[in-house]
Amino acid sequence: MKRSGMPRKDFLKKSGLGLAGMAFAPRVLPSEKNPASGTDRKNTAAGADYVLKNVRLETGFDYEDGEVIRTRTELFEVSVSNGKIAALRTGNPAGGSGIDAKDLLLLPAFRDMHIHLDKTFYGGQWQAARRRTNGVKGMIALEQQILPGMLTTSTSRAEKLIGLLQSKGSSYARSHVNIEPTSKLQSLLNLQKALANKKPGFGAELVAFPQHGVFYTESVPYLKEAARMDIDFIGGLDPFSIDGAIEKTMDFTVQLALDHDKGIDIHLHETGESGLKTVEYLIKKVNENPALKNRTFISHCFVLGKLEQVKQEAIAEQLAAAGIGIVSTIPIGNLVMPIPVLYKHRVTVLTGNDSIIDHWNTFGSGSVLQKANLMAQLYGYNTEFLLSRSLRLATGNLLPLDDKGIQQWPKPGDAASMVLVDARCSAEAVSRVSPVKSLINNGHIVY
Ligand SMILES: [Zn+2]
Repeated sequence: MKRSGMPRKDFLKKSGLGLAGMAFAPRVLPSEKNPASGTDRKNTAAGADYVLKNVRLETGFDYEDGEVIRTRTELFEVSVSNGKIAALRTGNPAGGSGIDAKDLLLLPAFRDMHIHLDKTFYGGQWQAARRRTNGVKGMIALEQQILPGMLTTSTSRAEKLIGLLQSKGSSYARSHVNIEPTSKLQSLLNLQKALANKKPGFGAELVAFPQHGVFYTESVPYLKEAARMDIDFIGGLDPFSIDGAIEKTMDFTVQLALDHDKGIDIHLHETGESGLKTVEYLIKKVNENPALKNRTFISHCFVLGKLEQVKQEAIAEQLAAAGIGIVSTIPIGNLVMPIPVLYKHRVTVLTGNDSIIDHWNTFGSGSVLQKANLMAQLYGYNTEFLLSRSLRLATGNLLPLDDKGIQQWPKPGDAASMVLVDARCSAEAVSRVSPVKSLINNGHIVY
């Protein structure tokens, strides 16, 4: 691929970029009858074939005294066929034909990897969270009261929430979905309906989440039933403080995942000894059961932020070796997660909005690019290089350039799931939380 210095004109911002999405819509919106949109909830449905012209792609780094001082970019033509990137050509060989991307920067589509699409007030009236009493158990009691009402609107609320995520550049989510004796399987069924309605512009993987404890309320039969349905992960919640038993609860979770060939993604808020014991026990179980490697995650895992640095490093090394990832909302305030330590040891780190507007909290913006920005601010990732690396938090670890500045995305054969952003490079997009102008999911132009 040809590399050259960034021409001066490339530094000039062009006007009228916001029209790009409108220019796309009429030509390539998928047909309702597209057989490829079938019944698969995951991101596999293919869209129409087309060419995007005047697409800006990152092609390398410029260095000064060994430091990355600028990200080089060039204009490309990108052919999309059958939901995948078919070809990349520099310049504008097709001339007038093709859809004009108007010099916007093409990045991998964003992924929200921790959200609760099934229970949200989004789309309804404003409602702040109530003062909490009795911690998570108090919240369980609250949910037992309010969930029956929320379930009557949860399909339409989930669709609106998915629309918000799409507007912020996410075409994929990992959603936890309540499985407990109050909702039974209704929250799952309602969400599956919403996801079917939002195809093919959005894909998701689902976690069967025992929000009211595995044993604290009698959730076992519902979890077993959910495991036979179209879900991808078995969830969990603070096994010691909710269920009063780390090993018994984690053994159930691990066995259910193994029996049904699912991954694991547990919520772990516990910060004390029980939190650490849960992490260590899960590491042990995954090492004993290699089928769970690289498909086991701990969400929040606040205990890591409470450990001495030596212990943080040791646990991070063990998590990486076991193939256990950490999903963090990048908390600020009382607790700061050791994200740099996790990256240093090559632990998979993912992020998500968790709550947008619900009874837990109301601060989710829907943007995971904003999470990358928050991470960059919190940990001092303020140089061109470190800002560009921070984009990985928004994309689920996919970056246009590798650490040496070699172009690695997009490549022919990659899924055509991408965003057009009003920025010159990844570093600017992260630093400025640049506006997302267009979202394409597996070739389908969402807007
Ligand atoms: Zn959560």
